[in-house]
Amino acid sequence: MPELYYKSAADLSRLLASGEISARELIQSVIDRTQNVEEKVHAFLRFDPEAALAKAAQCDERRSAGKSLGPLDGIPVALKDLICESGQGLTCGSRILEKYVSPYDATCVAKLKENGTILWGRMNMDEFAMGSSTENSGYQNTANPWDVSRIPGGSSGGSAAAVAAGETIAALGSDTGGSIRQPASLCGVVGLKPSYGLVSRYGLAAFASSLDQIGPITRTVEDSALLLQAIAGYDTLDSTSYQADIPDYTASLNSAPKPWKLGLPKEYFEEGLDPQIRQLVEKVIDFYKSEGCQIIEVSLPHTNLALPVYYVLAPAEASSNLARYDGVRYSHRSKQANDHVGLYFKSRGEGFGPEVKRRIILGTYVLSSGYYDAYYLRAQKVRTLIRNDFLEAFKQVDALITPVSPTAAFKIGERSGDPLSMYLSDIYTLSVNLAGLPGISVPCGFNSDKMPVGVQLIGQPYREAELLSIAHLYDSVHRFGMEHPVL
Ligand code: GLN
Repeated sequence: MPELYYKSAADLSRLLASGEISARELIQSVIDRTQNVEEKVHAFLRFDPEAALAKAAQCDERRSAGKSLGPLDGIPVALKDLICESGQGLTCGSRILEKYVSPYDATCVAKLKENGTILWGRMNMDEFAMGSSTENSGYQNTANPWDVSRIPGGSSGGSAAAVAAGETIAALGSDTGGSIRQPASLCGVVGLKPSYGLVSRYGLAAFASSLDQIGPITRTVEDSALLLQAIAGYDTLDSTSYQADIPDYTASLNSAPKPWKLGLPKEYFEEGLDPQIRQLVEKVIDFYKSEGCQIIEVSLPHTNLALPVYYVLAPAEASSNLARYDGVRYSHRSKQANDHVGLYFKSRGEGFGPEVKRRIILGTYVLSSGYYDAYYLRAQKVRTLIRNDFLEAFKQVDALITPVSPTAAFKIGERSGDPLSMYLSDIYTLSVNLAGLPGISVPCGFNSDKMPVGVQLIGQPYREAELLSIAHLYDSVHRFGMEHPVL
């Protein structure tokens, strides 16, 4: 069967269940595709075709013995290289962890294995997930499959580019301020950031622990629901894990009560938004109107504070999380040091790249005595105001519609010398992390350069089932994530 590598996980799941295809055929198609296009895309840091074929053979044996592990059994999934997979390297996109091997599975990885997925590659990313273009990787630039002279977004750029290019069926990324949704939008695929605590962070290398979430990158919203079903749930190994029963996300996709009330936060449609993106998002709004949804303008008055608040809190948390990479227990150890303090300085100086150093310095500064109250504490208070804005809006509406990114994918190198313009890429996604909400990026068309554009739907805390239903209503009709770049 041609082009298995471009089908959705849900379609492949049906083909596997009916016996029309085998897991071996499927992974072979993905491997062949990857071997054909990876020299242009550079999405993977590492992949192992032999191991993947062996896992697929096990899937096929299970299935023929009537012991299938469910809808994801045999589906190839790739992991952003900051999610621990026992026995596999874990670089976090950083030279400082070049030789590190994970001693255990992240909870989400253990769950994907229980569901029979074929974990088949480790994806490129911005170093320690700090960035919006994957250009901060310590290893390589990843190209946008729709135009290889452009960035794929970041920091989960490898994961999003691979899904878009047909090099995997689905992937996991992590999102601290937009790192699943923004690359998904820029590569024309679906990216879901779940509510804070819905997916265990055990085995996710920490960037900013109060903001980080793992989530799926897929071609359809239905696939996003399938993957979320597998990885969500309470975990005693993560003290911030959310304790509640997990609903059946796929079963509820088509059955949620309609029509919804959808809010348009006026602050997300002001200057800075590319007019073509505005137009594409307006078409999405028209679609929901035609489905009988009520569209209501709302205000999130503290929106303009999200960027400064994020760039106080995220670096503060990063500066303390990254202290563990000291050349003693983990990470690169310098050969140039003469004493133990020198060992820290030299190992960290040699191992970390410039953006990570910038964040550590920024974070250490805002936490330092005399500045803590003025920056860190104040930012925490404003964070509460930002969350309250959303909770207030949700008294009127079920979900919000916004752009994901103010522009489509820009050229490689275009913003790499200008951190502030890079930071602005996440202006519409950061608040969702600060407020702990679920947000999904759904492809909604192409601009005049034929570059993909996504729309963001923001849901109420832990109401992923409703958010996915709203997103699926649009996606099941338009299916822009099933369109393919020419590579
Ligand atoms: N681009 C943002 C940053 O650099 C968000 C990154 C992320 O979500 N991991 O911090």
